[in-house]
Amino acid sequence: MNSLINFPYHHVLVLGLAKSGTAAAKLLRTSGKKVIVNDLKASSDAPEVTSLTEMGIDVITGSHPLNVLDNVEILVKNPGIPYDNSIIEEAIKRDIPIITEIELASYLVTGSMIGITGSNGKTTTTTLVYEMIKHSNLSVQIAGNIGNVATEVAQTMKEDETMVIELSSFQLLGIQSFRPKISVLLNLFEAHLDYHKTLDHYKQAKSNIFINQKETDFLVYNADDTTVLEMITDAKAAKIPFSTKSQLKDGAWIDEHYLYFQNEKIIALDDIVLVGNHNLENILAAVCAAKLDGATNEGIVQVLTTFTGVKHRLQFVDNIRGRLFYNDSKATNSLATSKALSSFKQPTILLAGGLDRGNDFDDLISHLKNVKAMIVFGETANKLKKTATEAGIETVIFVDNVKHATQKAFQLSESDDVILLSPACASWDQYRTFEERGDMFVDAVHTLK
Ligand code: ADP
Repeated sequence: MNSLINFPYHHVLVLGLAKSGTAAAKLLRTSGKKVIVNDLKASSDAPEVTSLTEMGIDVITGSHPLNVLDNVEILVKNPGIPYDNSIIEEAIKRDIPIITEIELASYLVTGSMIGITGSNGKTTTTTLVYEMIKHSNLSVQIAGNIGNVATEVAQTMKEDETMVIELSSFQLLGIQSFRPKISVLLNLFEAHLDYHKTLDHYKQAKSNIFINQKETDFLVYNADDTTVLEMITDAKAAKIPFSTKSQLKDGAWIDEHYLYFQNEKIIALDDIVLVGNHNLENILAAVCAAKLDGATNEGIVQVLTTFTGVKHRLQFVDNIRGRLFYNDSKATNSLATSKALSSFKQPTILLAGGLDRGNDFDDLISHLKNVKAMIVFGETANKLKKTATEAGIETVIFVDNVKHATQKAFQLSESDDVILLSPACASWDQYRTFEERGDMFVDAVHTLK
C-alpha cells in the first residue's frame, strides 16, 4: 500500500465523514499523521466512527466546535460541504489551506493523472478513456466522482500506472496543487447554481482542473463550446482541441465518414456503436486523452466497436424482434431527454415522467417529431400528456410505473422502432434513485424475451 511520504503536513482535520472522508482519514493515519475528523450529522456510534476511533483518530460528531482547528495545518473537506460552513469560514480566517480528498490522493500517484470535467458527459468520457487505455494493454485505474474513492484507489496504484479521474466542480473547488498530466474540459452549461451562486464561480471551479498545469502537460478542450474557449485562454498546457464541426487537425475531428486524431484515421463513424451526437463529442475527447497517454489505435477501435454506453445513460439494452431498447434513466430534465431524442431517426416510443419540480416541458416539443407514442407515469404524467398533445402525438398512455410502461410500449411497437426510457424528470416521486428506475426498465425488457 502506498503512503503519503511527500505530503508536507502533519496535523490534519478531515471535515465530513462519508465514504471519501473516512478513506482520507484512514490513509492519513496509516501514513503517520495526527488526524481529527469532524462531522455534524454522523452519529457517535456509527460503525465508521468506531473503526476510525480504534485507529487512534479523534472523531467529533454532532457539532462543529471551532477548537477542532487548533494546531491544524491543513483541512481535507468533503466536496459537498459549502464554503459558508462555520469551520470552513474560520479555517479561511486562520489561513489554513483547504483541499479535497482528490488532491490528497494525487500525492500518491506517480504515473500520469487524467482529470476529466465538464457540465455533462463526465462519466461517459471517463469510462471511455479508462477502457481505451486498458484495451491498449497499459496499466490504468479509474476513480473520483464516478464512485471509486480516489484515496483508496491511489493506495493500490503501481508506479507509472495511469489514474483516470472524473472530477465534479465541487471536487475542483478545493484545488491547491493538483496537477493532472492531461486535463479534459468537455463543455460548460449553467448548472449547480444553487451551490456556486454565479456562473463565474462555477467556471472558476471548473478551470481549476488546468490551473496548475505546465507547458509539458496537455489540456483537451471542446473547440465548439464558446464558454470553454473563453475559459482556457490563459491555460499554460499544450491545448488539444476536439470538434464535431471543424476539421481541427491538431486534435480529434471528423469528416463525413471517419474519425481522426491529428493525421491518423482512427475509425469509420459507422463502426461506432455508441449513439448520439453528444456522445460523439465524448468519444472525440476520450480519443485525445487516450492517445496522449499512449493508447493504441487497436485498443481504441476495440472499445468504440463494442461499448454500448454507461448504464442508464442512453445505454443500449437489447434488440427484441427488431425493437431497439435504450435506457436513459439518468435524463432528469428536458435538455437531457431532447439530446436522447435527437440521437435517433427511427420512430420512437418515449417513456417519460417522474418528480414534478414545477416546470413545464415546452422545450421538448420541437424534439418530439419522431415520437409516435408516449407512455407517461409519475407526478408529471398530466403535464407530459399536454406536451405530447401540443406536439401532435395522438397516442399517449398513462401507466403506474416503468415496468408497465415497458410492457405497454412493446405492445404498441413495430419492428425498427426505438423504445426509449428518457424520463425528463427526477425519479424521487416513485423510485429511490434514477438507477433503481433504470434497473426496473432493464429487467422489464429482459422479461419480454
Ligand atoms: P455526467 O457524469 O457529467 O453527469 P454522463 O456521462 O453521466 O455525464 O451523462 C449524463 C447525461 O448527460 C446523458 O444522459 C446525456 O443526456 C447528457 N450528456 C452526456 N454527454 C454530453 C455532452 N457531451 N454534451 C451534452 N450532454 C451530454
